[in-house]
Amino acid sequence: MNADCDPLQTMKNRKFSPFIYSLATLVIMLALVLVGRSFVPDRVQITILGTTDLHGNILPIDYYTNKPDNRGLAKIATLIKRVRKEQPNVLLIDSGDTIQGTPLESFHGRKNNQPIDPMMLVMNSLNYDSMTVGNHEYNFGLKVLEKARSEAKFPWLSANTYDKGKEQTHYKPYIVKDIAGVRIGVLTSEYCVVDVVLVLRVEGVGVV
Ligand SMILES: [Zn+2]
Repeated sequence: MNADCDPLQTMKNRKFSPFIYSLATLVIMLALVLVGRSFVPDRVQITILGTTDLHGNILPIDYYTNKPDNRGLAKIATLIKRVRKEQPNVLLIDSGDTIQGTPLESFHGRKNNQPIDPMMLVMNSLNYDSMTVGNHEYNFGLKVLEKARSEAKFPWLSANTYDKGKEQTHYKPYIVKDIAGVRIGVLTSEYCVVDVVLVLRVEGVGVV
């Protein structure tokens, strides 16, 4: 993703309501009791969290000036952990432009690529489900890109990136996750404005 937007953009206006989540939990529990013969509830709440254009920002500082700044995956981690505590059914995706953009990643990509990529290290610990490949993933060359990709515990996705002369996409084009009985597809493409999240099939009576 290439909008170069604030990494907290997708989060900053989000308000988390314990009441709503408590209510949702109650609805799900009631559904489980009422359905009885099946373990599939008739109502499931799934929260989709997305980050984009993280650009190598982890700590809440401006990496060029070393001054505190309202950015970075560490701050987002706090929000992610809070949501996971309130709502177990979470899909967490990143839309790319991830491993380039700060002196931290420049040093890693150009001077010392031996350790695990810092962004992959943090994103692994946060249990991301997938990451779309952004154009800036290529900034330090394919070797650095493929090393970071191999270190991720989640797939890197792109439905429109091909090796020359090949029919198959270089990356996984999509994933399908089963969350609380609901099959959700994440289909992505480089230079796309948003990743597409599809509810493919619901193993229940309905979906909200
Ligand atoms: Zn970007």
